[in-house]
Amino acid sequence: MSPFDTPDAETCGTILTIDLGALVANWRALQAQAGTEAAAVVKANAYGIGIEPAVTALAAAGCRSFFVAHLSEGVRARAVAPDATIYILNGLLPGSCGRYAEHDLSPVLGSPEELREWAGFRAGGARGRPAALHLDTGMNRLGFPAGDGADVVSAFRTEIDAAGIGLVMSHFASSEDEADPANARQMAAFAAIANALPGIPASLKNSSGHFLKDCPSYQLTRPGYALYGGNPTPGRPNPMRAVVGLTSRILQLRDVRAGTQVGYNGRWTAKRDSRLATICLGYADGYPRNASGTDISPGGSAIVDGVVCPFVGTVSMDLVIIDVTDLPSASVKRGDPVTLIGGALDLDAVGAGAKTIGYEILTSLGRRHARRYVGV
Ligand SMILES: *Cc1c(COP(=O)(O)O)cnc(C)c1O
Repeated sequence: MSPFDTPDAETCGTILTIDLGALVANWRALQAQAGTEAAAVVKANAYGIGIEPAVTALAAAGCRSFFVAHLSEGVRARAVAPDATIYILNGLLPGSCGRYAEHDLSPVLGSPEELREWAGFRAGGARGRPAALHLDTGMNRLGFPAGDGADVVSAFRTEIDAAGIGLVMSHFASSEDEADPANARQMAAFAAIANALPGIPASLKNSSGHFLKDCPSYQLTRPGYALYGGNPTPGRPNPMRAVVGLTSRILQLRDVRAGTQVGYNGRWTAKRDSRLATICLGYADGYPRNASGTDISPGGSAIVDGVVCPFVGTVSMDLVIIDVTDLPSASVKRGDPVTLIGGALDLDAVGAGAKTIGYEILTSLGRRHARRYVGV
């Protein structure tokens, strides 16, 4: 048993299995593929799998740099990785420099105001690890607007020197779509920035960035989704190992006649005499209600005994109904296990069934499952 495991499956009904060995293997594969140091993006509780177990496993495997979104996440990562460099992507909230220094965390500075505040803090004699500088190359979300990277660098040269910048970075807006011409524009804009700051390590690639043709790795890459088994090359086979598995159990089976309406508001109608199974998981477990299977639109699915069974009716808070008519009736019984994430139902397929992306499935993983950490 891992110290991070949570309650016994007998008391939970659903089991979330997290393969930390696969997580580490994915990190190693991305690092080898990039041919440079790979960091790990562990924001949002390590995309739902648990920041402490993820950071502990990756740091033990040799990962030295981590990215989180919030200061509070940085504090959690620091507690289990005392020697790592931990960057806070959301940057500085006004007046928070002292908290960063207290936990030896590195803000990702994304505006002139943030850069000046951090430079002023450092000028006051504060020590600490170097910060990162974030230049926007097309996302228009966070980061210095970098019309021309060289202009930004010359305009802010004094503050950049005073702030102690250890990394310069930018973020792709559409790297999962190889054909999007925005990728080449962002690569060119970032190359100009990296050129203007010789001697400062640079970082551009997120997960899908690793698979973009002609994209330099610079000194550091920042994969997130692919570490957790998400497919960084949508539409092509997934090169990553699965990290997350989710299973539930059948609570009840029932036979209904063609024409019977099922679930809240009767949004699904049986088109044939059907055998339905009610399973022990709902939207309160982080499975999106948008995965409901209705008369108008199909939704999510589950695998029972190797057969993919569609969701029928509205996803309830604690329950989902699936259609098991295509299974031999003797082979399904109360208590049987049902796979919600795993096998053919990888993160990307589950996301599509819920009209969202695998990232949202991962980061919404519920708090009510028994969590089992394996592979370490
Ligand atoms: C979330 C994030 C990443 C990781 O992106 P993935 O697509 O999950 O690999 C990298 N860099 C920044 C700035 C991010 O916000």
